[in-house]
Amino acid sequence: MLLSSGRGGNIPLEHLNLMFNIDQRLDNCIKTKFQDISNIIQLLYHVEYKSDQIEAMINLLKRHKLHGQVELFPSESIGDLINNYSKNPYFSTHTSLHTIKPFTDICLTCQQPLELKFKEHVYVFKIETVENGCTYSARCCHVDYYSNGYVRGSKQFITRDALNSVVNIFIWVERMRTQLN
Ligand SMILES: [Zn+2]
Repeated sequence: MLLSSGRGGNIPLEHLNLMFNIDQRLDNCIKTKFQDISNIIQLLYHVEYKSDQIEAMINLLKRHKLHGQVELFPSESIGDLINNYSKNPYFSTHTSLHTIKPFTDICLTCQQPLELKFKEHVYVFKIETVENGCTYSARCCHVDYYSNGYVRGSKQFITRDALNSVVNIFIWVERMRTQLN
């Protein structure tokens, strides 16, 4: 099955399906998302699509709900594709499987949506592997928002979730120490 790209060419269903699947795995705050999808497809199929063309195709697929009909790629291989691309030193990208955003979408003071800014590249430790990730922060009403809390003036506040994970690590370390002694 082929879908017309509207520019005289046809886009193979395989490419469309991959575009859609990668899009699903990437956060909308990644500014280079459609260019990254274009790069990944070019690496894999040696076919170049313009990023605005990809964006239009994905929007079309979403509008017509065509995406659910065919699953050409297992989700693990989509993950591997994105992960390998994020490690490719040739591309300067914020695309990765882990987009770590502030714990809230809106400012706690003025209730307006936060404007996210890329903060840094990080390593995300999984049980067997290390993957790339990117963190985002935001600033509104003199407050800096991060994934695990916020900073107002000289005071730092952390969320209960962050506190729980610190406590869990602490318990784990304590348990190891008890076992060693
Ligand atoms: Zn605000």
